[in-house]
Amino acid sequence: MAAQSGQYAQAYQRSVTDPQGFWAEQAHLIEWETPPQQVLDDSNPPFSRWYVGGKTNLCHNAVDRHLKTRANQAALIFISTETNEEVTYTFAQLHEEVVKMAAIYQKLGVKKGDRVLIYMPMIAQASFAMLACARIGAIHSVVFGGFASVSLASRIEDAKPSLIVSADAGMRSGKVVEYKPLLDEAIRLSSHKPTHVLMVDRGLANAPVTPDRDVDYATLKSSVAGVDVPVTWLDATDTSYILYTSGTTGKPKGVQRDVGGYAVALTYSMKSIFCGEAGETFFSTSDIGWVVGHSYIIYGPLLAGMATIMYEGTPLRPDAGIWWSIVEKYKVTGMFSAPTAVRVLKKQDPALLKKYDLSSLKALFLAGEPLDEPTGRWISESLGVPIVDNYWQTETGWPMLAVQRGLEALPSKFGSPGVPVTGFNIKIVSETTNEECAPNEKGVLAIMGPLPPGCMQTIWGDDERFVKTYWSSFANIQAYSTFDWGMRDAEGYHFILGRTDDVINVAGHRLGTREIEESISSHANVAEVAVVGVADALKGQVAVAFAIIKQVSAVQTPAERAALEAEIMKVVDNQLGAVARPARVHFVSLLPKTRSGKLLRRSIQAVCEGRDPGDLTTIEDPAALQQIKDCLAG
Ligand code: AMP
Repeated sequence: MAAQSGQYAQAYQRSVTDPQGFWAEQAHLIEWETPPQQVLDDSNPPFSRWYVGGKTNLCHNAVDRHLKTRANQAALIFISTETNEEVTYTFAQLHEEVVKMAAIYQKLGVKKGDRVLIYMPMIAQASFAMLACARIGAIHSVVFGGFASVSLASRIEDAKPSLIVSADAGMRSGKVVEYKPLLDEAIRLSSHKPTHVLMVDRGLANAPVTPDRDVDYATLKSSVAGVDVPVTWLDATDTSYILYTSGTTGKPKGVQRDVGGYAVALTYSMKSIFCGEAGETFFSTSDIGWVVGHSYIIYGPLLAGMATIMYEGTPLRPDAGIWWSIVEKYKVTGMFSAPTAVRVLKKQDPALLKKYDLSSLKALFLAGEPLDEPTGRWISESLGVPIVDNYWQTETGWPMLAVQRGLEALPSKFGSPGVPVTGFNIKIVSETTNEECAPNEKGVLAIMGPLPPGCMQTIWGDDERFVKTYWSSFANIQAYSTFDWGMRDAEGYHFILGRTDDVINVAGHRLGTREIEESISSHANVAEVAVVGVADALKGQVAVAFAIIKQVSAVQTPAERAALEAEIMKVVDNQLGAVARPARVHFVSLLPKTRSGKLLRRSIQAVCEGRDPGDLTTIEDPAALQQIKDCLAG
């Protein structure tokens, strides 16, 4: 078994048989004000507390630490192909900006443990805002800029931020996307109100101002010139951030992460998975609103002393060579993207890839959704560098399956994100027997506790939901469920075979079908709706809705149907954001359900994908599935 012999296998074995010893060694990768007294406290499973007694700070390790050795080297490279801006901040300059943002926070009364919600486009100030929270121990909660007011309101309600940091607008494909009206509406919808809203004015839109509450970043920045804000040393087990993610209920879950364990895990991952060296440049094309943005745009590369690129724009403007031109110009060594982006680029002129000098690039990392073989082969052959598929979730914070090239360059297999990452005790568990599956047998991908450093501590404000949601799937064993189907081959390589729950993945973005259903149901003419994820050649999956309408007489003609479909899509756009908009809304008079009233989503999905709908013995009325088939045919 190739994966069981060399350096990787040794490190992996050690990490799961002696996690305390293994992670005690990795703790030296970061700087501590007070070293930990206890590596792991797992006296109250499934809650694990890493590096108990240790005091450190993420901002210190990402920024201040490097001032001694690389103050004048690039730390943050902000590129907007939308506004044609390009600004490089050295570590010294980044430090100055972060200190100023932290001083503004203090002036606005933000204290350790307070929540700061960040709803911003991909601009440098967003990274200052995150790092400034880390500096003073405020807890950031970044909300993806593509989310609209209802999504944002539920996060404000749950996180109860005292401060929200935002901007007048972002830009996408040459169009101004205003943030402030959505934010104002979200605050109106939420029963919790922030004390202040700190606005970065990019001069793109005329943002409405609420007096006393809204304050201007540039004005406050000039008022704090010369103010020093030293880092606040935090307990390793303090909370660094909350990041909301979709689940099977309509209410998003606030994934809560610590300080010390996260700093160690990310630094370790930069070395062992991403092979990043201080002084090099990392380019992750994700967004700060997602976990990849937290871990591998902001914290990971900076912890490693690398320059990180923050990019506002699409892969196609001004042309499909833009990302490769950035690689050439900034001598990018590691690049991180998602399979959908590669599929988009694959449709473009191949000459654009050959036009640039990509010799600096050591590897391309892809995650967020399954990497299909044709896409993997195409990009691998085009770039001539290793393509490193890696599998993880918002909850884990860093990859749990990958080939750790920094330990040993095991061969990769198309279709597999690789082998378990050191620290993750992964098992494929049978859904029926709860026993570990044999090789090549499909089961649920589970992690045996304790979860390694860097993973979620709990669900913000709801320990019980954390235990119930993630740790209660299997009868005989206490294991964390990823809610992904998986399979392990005889050589230890793992394959991801889709979700076990109602979560879908559109272009690498995780969406809860329940949230989309709730939004569609708010349309006055919708009585009931089912949303399923359907395979799509470009985006991996798209959401497709089947709705029962109240006033059937109002939608008789194709034109009336099309108008209602467009209206429903608009509701989703306005409430959740275009990212959650279904690709189609079909109208039916009946939905496939069991006799006890449970929606048969898997059967609907199977029919949409032209597969066998499976066991239908419990279906209440088979005519409902026929209706689904009919509207797909029509
Ligand atoms: P998120 O929490 O938004 O990052 O979504 C995590 C989910 O995306 C996982 O539970 C998987 O379903 C899917 N996913 C992430 N990375 C991969 C990958 N490399 N291959 C297959 N599926 C992936």
